[in-house]
Amino acid sequence: MDHLFLPMEELALFELKRDRYFDKVPSKDLSSIIKSAASIGKDWAIRIKKMYPDKSFHHIAREHGLKIIEEDKELIIGDVVFYSEFYSGKKEILIYKKAVEAWAVALNKTYEECKELFIAHEFFHYLECEKIGLLSNIYKVTIFKIAGFNWKSGVKALSEIGAHSFVKHSFKMEE
Ligand SMILES: [Zn+2]
Repeated sequence: MDHLFLPMEELALFELKRDRYFDKVPSKDLSSIIKSAASIGKDWAIRIKKMYPDKSFHHIAREHGLKIIEEDKELIIGDVVFYSEFYSGKKEILIYKKAVEAWAVALNKTYEECKELFIAHEFFHYLECEKIGLLSNIYKVTIFKIAGFNWKSGVKALSEIGAHSFVKHSFKMEE
């Protein structure tokens, strides 16, 4: 999760490059889709800050009816460590406590401070579901064409770019 500290543009490319449809995105479009997703994240960070000055994301998420569940375990799939997840149906944010704790130690921060970053990240996914619309759908790539039909898909990395931008601006990690 150290990639969170990369500058926004680099972080966005990191997310896009590991997206399954990265190869389908023409390189000429990269910078504009990064800008769009990042600016939505930024705008919502400003908006939420105005609505809830001085409130923690723990508080804000709970105010929106989200449950925050801390599980005393970690989840690693392949080389990806999971820190938190958002379940829109259950309105639940799940924090993998062991993973966040390990990250906090490595950064010399407290668990509570780091947990806030992950709650903010997942809260953005909640905003996508409830208010903004999924950022993955702001740009579509053609998956294949057959007999005049054109199958398209959104790009999931754009949701992550929006969430990273939201976190960076909420915690003043980016101008
Ligand atoms: Zn995410």
